[in-house]
Amino acid sequence: METVNNKILIDVGFNATEITRRLESIDQRPEDLTAILITHEHIDHIRGARIIARKYDIPIYLNPATHQASKTILGNIPQIEYFSTGRPFTLNELTVEPFSLPHDAYDPVGFNFYMGQIKISIALDLGYVTKLVKERVQGARLIILESNHDAEMLKIGPYPWPLKQRISSKLGHLSNEVSSNLLAEIAHGQLVGVILAHLSEINNDPALARLTAENSLMGHTSEVIVSCQDKPTTLITLGDGL
Ligand SMILES: [Zn+2]
Ligand SMILES: [Zn+2]
Repeated sequence: METVNNKILIDVGFNATEITRRLESIDQRPEDLTAILITHEHIDHIRGARIIARKYDIPIYLNPATHQASKTILGNIPQIEYFSTGRPFTLNELTVEPFSLPHDAYDPVGFNFYMGQIKISIALDLGYVTKLVKERVQGARLIILESNHDAEMLKIGPYPWPLKQRISSKLGHLSNEVSSNLLAEIAHGQLVGVILAHLSEINNDPALARLTAENSLMGHTSEVIVSCQDKPTTLITLGDGL
């Protein structure tokens, strides 16, 4: 995410080489990053964080429990900044609000970003939609929301039973349907975009995820973008310097 004085990476799930390659593919350089924000300690969110942070001296922002749980992977980071879940903090002109998500990690968070009239919400890796999550993402101009799996594909798919149970549990991941129900509830005239993210390559079909979301957003002008794991998502400009 970029504002006038910020260039922020939220989670670093790929290794440093791949992150660098992807940043360069959108004309960005890792050394220009101003902050790395971490949502939780699972490896698909922190894999490349240590190398990027150390090599380019980029501060990592995370809560203490996530830091504790990711110490073996993050190792020694030159700049660690703690935030408290539920307590907003500022990064230059941006206000960041971390909020709690139900997921099988120590203190997993989603983020709201506020600048001027614009609010962006990010909620990935959550097992279900809590009342708090629904409240926190209300009014977002852009929402990046998990749409992990199609419940039926997960059920009949190749994953072992315990993994299926974990994914569909209240501390697992959001299905297309649950994700879409949330979109239907929070949709409003100013919602300009929805990015569906954290899609399973095995238990989901991007076209199906999009269709489910679009159906739930009917009557609203939102653009639905489905992110995929092999290339960066199209850049979105929201105005007001964001
Ligand atoms: Zn996770
Ligand atoms: Zn994840």
